[in-house]
Amino acid sequence: MKTYKIIFLIIAIFTLNFATAQSYIPAYANIVNQTSQTNITNNLTEYEALGVKRRGTPELQNTLNWLKNKYLSYGYTNLQMVEDTYSYSGFTCKNLTLNKVGTVYPNIYVIICGHYDSISGTGTNDNGSGVVSILEMARLLKNVPTEYSIKFVNFSGEEDGLKGSQAYVSNIVNATTPKLNIKLVFNLDEVGGVAGMVNNTITCERDTASPTTNNAASNTFTNQMITCVGLYTSLNTFLSYAYASDYMSFQSNNEIITGMFETNETTHKHTPTDFLVNMDPVYNYNVAKAATGSALHFAVASTALSNDEFNSGYQVSFFPNPTSEFLNINLGTLNDNYYEISLIDINGKVAVEKSIINPDQIEKINVGLLEKGMYLVVLKTKNKKITKKIVIN
Ligand SMILES: [Zn+2]
Repeated sequence: MKTYKIIFLIIAIFTLNFATAQSYIPAYANIVNQTSQTNITNNLTEYEALGVKRRGTPELQNTLNWLKNKYLSYGYTNLQMVEDTYSYSGFTCKNLTLNKVGTVYPNIYVIICGHYDSISGTGTNDNGSGVVSILEMARLLKNVPTEYSIKFVNFSGEEDGLKGSQAYVSNIVNATTPKLNIKLVFNLDEVGGVAGMVNNTITCERDTASPTTNNAASNTFTNQMITCVGLYTSLNTFLSYAYASDYMSFQSNNEIITGMFETNETTHKHTPTDFLVNMDPVYNYNVAKAATGSALHFAVASTALSNDEFNSGYQVSFFPNPTSEFLNINLGTLNDNYYEISLIDINGKVAVEKSIINPDQIEKINVGLLEKGMYLVVLKTKNKKITKKIVIN
């Protein structure tokens, strides 16, 4: 719920690289490039079809259920999701948090958030665009180890005056003992662009409000985000100030915040015509990439190129599973001209090892002579490694 007034004390900075010693990390680019335009567009379509998501409506509850099912489909579990309920003006609403535990600082959190409620319309841009960006980030980061824990938080009640995020700060952040240790709050609100315009710039928002003790750190993180946008996407950046969205509830609590907001601003927000047709889904896709690159940086994701887990987008498959005679290897979207395939049994012994040069899309290997049981299939290319469990019976 916000309207930008372009004030000329805003400093415009177009993809300026600050002295924060950030460099291009191929592993991050690899993940960012797995962002899916199809997912963005399909999820926007589904979000729109869920209707007007106001407080107390079945549409809002249905949207929450839809979000949970999305996270489950990405491989998260119900145990990683928390619904927190709060009330205002006689309405009961819920925020939904998806937790991902950090490998080095499990008790320090990067909060990646956006509201899923709407007012006077389906809110496909405000804030379906942020919702689908967060969904893509959660999908892409599912198997990527991060040093810091991440909380993906979907707020309700934003359109009624930041009710969900205020409740979250009171009931979760400040009610935890010790108080929740937040590295950064990264908010996405209205990042869908405007149909028919050239949407090539993302506004990056830093804290300029009171209290001011958190402002310098917000400025630092926002400039790091600007660098990430330049490193991993073709978008330009515009540095501005944060206001009128869920990060302000955290700002007031003296947390460090940053945010993304569209630079070409829709005229359809908070109206019955806030529809996908009035947005630019390609821009939304580019923003999701920018946000993913930034999240990898903020949460300090693993930079190992060969990490087993960086495989979610390649659609490599091994079938049939279970199998008895042959195992087919479908190369998915990998276009390497060489790979090694190995099968490792549960004792760690390599049972099969084979190099395949100029592979066909589907290659077949004989497994009929192997002992029955569970095996790990490992497909290795020059810089990628994909693993999967199979059963030979
Ligand atoms: Zn909004």
